[in-house]
Amino acid sequence: MNKTLGTGSVDRSARVHRIKRVIIGIIVVAVLLPSILCIILFSKINKLEKQIIELSYQKEKVNVITEYTKVLEPNKSEPNIEDGSSEIINIEKMELSESTKEDSQEIDSISGESESKVDDRESLEETGDSELLDDSEDDSSTDAKVSDLFPLKRVYLTFDDGPSSNTSKILDILNENDVKGTFFVVGRLSDTTTPMYKRIVSEGHAIGMHSYTHKYSEIYADKDAFVYDIERIQSLIYEQTGVLSKLYRFPGGSSNTVSRTPISELANELEKRDIKYFDWNVTSGDASSKYGVSKEAIVKNCTSGALGFEDAVILMHDLPEKSTTVAALPEIIGYFKSIGVEILPLDENAPGVHHVVEISE
Ligand code: ZN
Repeated sequence: MNKTLGTGSVDRSARVHRIKRVIIGIIVVAVLLPSILCIILFSKINKLEKQIIELSYQKEKVNVITEYTKVLEPNKSEPNIEDGSSEIINIEKMELSESTKEDSQEIDSISGESESKVDDRESLEETGDSELLDDSEDDSSTDAKVSDLFPLKRVYLTFDDGPSSNTSKILDILNENDVKGTFFVVGRLSDTTTPMYKRIVSEGHAIGMHSYTHKYSEIYADKDAFVYDIERIQSLIYEQTGVLSKLYRFPGGSSNTVSRTPISELANELEKRDIKYFDWNVTSGDASSKYGVSKEAIVKNCTSGALGFEDAVILMHDLPEKSTTVAALPEIIGYFKSIGVEILPLDENAPGVHHVVEISE
């Protein structure tokens, strides 16, 4: 009797154990399965999000280049990029050296000067070559052509006319973003500006000359006046920083029409001193109005203007009244970083440097 009871008790106990195991199994499956599914779904969502970001970027680029093309050729019909049909896209292939021949020139915007001799125009004038994409291309070559449309690899941020009360703010922003720029400076000694020459150099940025006085009537009066001005600014930079600058940017650009001496002769003087000069192929437009250009316009000019080039040398100004240039800077840097473009300081071997052809005297 006791034996029978004992056997029944063991059976019950075994059943309870089995049921427990089944319940635990069900709980484990009920918890694990959704967890595994969640992990799989999260990773898929992550991948899709990345694809969405990438597609948004591609779409943004297409939008920008479409607008860019419209600006360049306002009278032509809008290209249809998205459906790939009958697209004729004329993209500027401007050479750095050519872009400034008839294009953007700086307003002489040094504060306190009343000179406004040269208009600042968009540096988007057509210089020749256009690219035709037709719909006879197959899909793979279309991809290649799309990458041709967005060749941008390197950006050079250049700041003219400083130092100013804004220089330290510009330097702070560059430092925060760990990028180096190029400052084409003039002679301006004051409690605020004098220490900036040294700070520019000590923080790893390139320093170039932009004349001592920035007064066209003096610099461009004749060859001797031009040389005297170069020597003054080169000495000033050397005294302040210990760097003998070999980079130059003509006030008004090398295509200015105010110089009484042919620019080629002045360029030859630079060459004799082993000084390289640089223009720009993208302008921020921050000198186009003395009453201030909006931050948004500056960001757009820089970002959309640069996309058509492999190397974009961007013109900005370092002057007290150019506060929107300072405000636009973080966004401009952020944009170029987000699309994987390098931001570099100019040096004597950088693209865009002018190689002077010897002139016969
Ligand atoms: Zn200037």
